Amino acid sequence: MDGLLQEDLATLSDLDEKSLLESLSERFKQNQIYTYIGDILVAINPSKYLPIYEKEVSERYKCHEKTALPPHIFAVADRAYQSMLGRLATGPRNQCIVISGESCSNRGFCGSTVESGAGKTESTKLLLRQIMELSRANSQLEQQILQVNPLLEAFGNAQTVMNNNSSRFGKYIQLRFHNSAVKGAKINEYLLEKSRVVQQDEGERNFHIFYCMLAGISQEDKEIYGLLDPTQYRYLNGRYGTEDMVHVWSEKYSEVSNAMDMVGFEEQEKVAEKSSGWLKATAGQFGVQEEELLRSLTCTMSMTRGEAIRRFHNQQQAEDARDSIAKVAYGRVFGWIVSKVNELLAPDVDLDVQLSEIGILDIFGFENFTVNRYEQICINLANEQLQYFFNHHIFLMEQKEYKEEGIEWDTIEFKDNKPILDLFLTKPFGIFSLLDEQSAFPQATDKTFVDKLNNKFKSHPHFEVVRSHNPLFTVLHYAGKVQYNGSGFLEKNRDTIPGSIRGLFINSVTPLLSVLFTATISRTGTLMPRKAKLVQTADDNFNSTRKQSVGAQFRHSLAVLMEKMFAANPHFVRCIKPNSNKQPDQVDSNIMMDQLRYNGLLETIRIRRDGFSWRPSFKEFAERYSILLLKPHLPLNKESCMSILNITELHGWKCGTSRLFFKYVHEEELARLLDRFG
Ligand code: ADP
Ligand code: MG
Repeated sequence: MDGLLQEDLATLSDLDEKSLLESLSERFKQNQIYTYIGDILVAINPSKYLPIYEKEVSERYKCHEKTALPPHIFAVADRAYQSMLGRLATGPRNQCIVISGESCSNRGFCGSTVESGAGKTESTKLLLRQIMELSRANSQLEQQILQVNPLLEAFGNAQTVMNNNSSRFGKYIQLRFHNSAVKGAKINEYLLEKSRVVQQDEGERNFHIFYCMLAGISQEDKEIYGLLDPTQYRYLNGRYGTEDMVHVWSEKYSEVSNAMDMVGFEEQEKVAEKSSGWLKATAGQFGVQEEELLRSLTCTMSMTRGEAIRRFHNQQQAEDARDSIAKVAYGRVFGWIVSKVNELLAPDVDLDVQLSEIGILDIFGFENFTVNRYEQICINLANEQLQYFFNHHIFLMEQKEYKEEGIEWDTIEFKDNKPILDLFLTKPFGIFSLLDEQSAFPQATDKTFVDKLNNKFKSHPHFEVVRSHNPLFTVLHYAGKVQYNGSGFLEKNRDTIPGSIRGLFINSVTPLLSVLFTATISRTGTLMPRKAKLVQTADDNFNSTRKQSVGAQFRHSLAVLMEKMFAANPHFVRCIKPNSNKQPDQVDSNIMMDQLRYNGLLETIRIRRDGFSWRPSFKEFAERYSILLLKPHLPLNKESCMSILNITELHGWKCGTSRLFFKYVHEEELARLLDRFG
């Protein structure tokens, strides 16, 4: 039983799949949702309130020793923060926290039929909150940063079948610090699910903001802006909500308004009246009339805007055009909000001040629906990348170093997903290159695209040809088999707006639209910022005109993200859902086991148990710990390292040809010794 409740599974000497599952389940039943595997945190979604995030808990986890307290998400925050300050081990100062887990699968890998979140976004929020606590930020900036989430969630989250607040975009939040104090933040957003604006499946809703706006705006304003009864809107599917829901939305509307004010949307506004609210603020930002802004937003919802549509002869075309305008406009509004947030939260510091960073990645998890479309293939590619990043850090790099440094080691096999990444990304014959090639070819169709794939990859171990008159194909992902429906791939990849419509909007008397359709758009759909101080930090997202395909832009932003992450010190949080019904206190063994397997958690336990996760060079080590010998000017070589280690009681470490090999626990033991030397 003791073994079952072990807080760190990497300390168990003997563990197989079954006992791993038992351990996690047993802990979960006792409301211990967090478990370590060495330095990796496994988090199981409780789907109920647990009193473990209170102020006093948050206090206890500040600057603590990892082994002194039970596993916790706050401990990850602390570790990232202390590492950034250089208080833990040597290594890069920039940190990244990677939160992964399945988002939803309505035809799950075990045939489950509903979806639910694994808890990534909740974990992100908890991390953010605790890091703000740790940095004792100046309270205004802290509040601003904390308000970013509710703001983005209003525009980027929606109710889905089982997650009432499902994120429909991915994000990387970078917190920027000078020494211990937070100085600013920057958000990158990925792949907003724009199609949701015009269409939602049964049981699903449009983005929160539409309901909040309709519920929250006063009757008087509604009349002024010509807002119709909510049930009139096609894009809301004729569905609105009960009185209770309307009440909640209306409250949310004021929250969002406040968030906008707090983040600073209001500050720069030139609108004279004292009333606030996001619309006014937004309008102020653009220097446009509110009514025009609102009309432009509601037009995207209500299809009532005229001229562009009248150009088309048949109804289907007109409807498609209407939908594509709505999607593009919404995507650009979202991008604009993000870029505005970035502008407002950009660090206000001199150029020569060196900032360090903690990044938190919350990107949609693996998806496998009944019908998987272009959006799913992009999302799943991102997840392959993340899995590769994890494997690279946990298995590849580590084992390569053992070899190079002559450390005795039995290789641990893991499921390397590089071949799947190659299937997608190889140039010129990966899935995405072929898609780009076909997208550029006017005669090509979704069918010819899939034919190309079938032809090219019929014997690829991770590809399966599907015999069907529909353009279907199957990819064997690290997390399981996913069948894609190629219908719409070409069009979505091109994502072009008919020139006539674009022209109309550029000349729109509504400056918002004019700006949105004229401005330089980044590869992730973010608008080019105007402030010089942001441009200086905008190495990645900006400065590219939009000629590339959606896929190419997305691959580019992924590559930029990966580069950033590979240069940082990573922390991993693996979120797991215990069942697919979002039920508290319920463990579905099959569902859990699936996730443990494709996450490679068993292999991770082995490498964390037997391996050496911290591997400083002799120089790094001697530089940092020579103080333990009270001799500050030791030569930075192997001998000095040995003398230092001689006076510690560390055991189980190894010495290579140019570096030392330590278990993750050693880091903390040494940090403790250093503390004693003050
Ligand atoms: P994901 O981002 O992985 O899709 P979410 O973070 O949105 O999932 O979590 C889905 C739901 O699960 C949340 O809305 C919340 O109700 C519940 N949940 C997640 N994490 C926790 C937690 N630590 N404590 C309580 N409930 C949680
Ligand atoms: Mg989420």
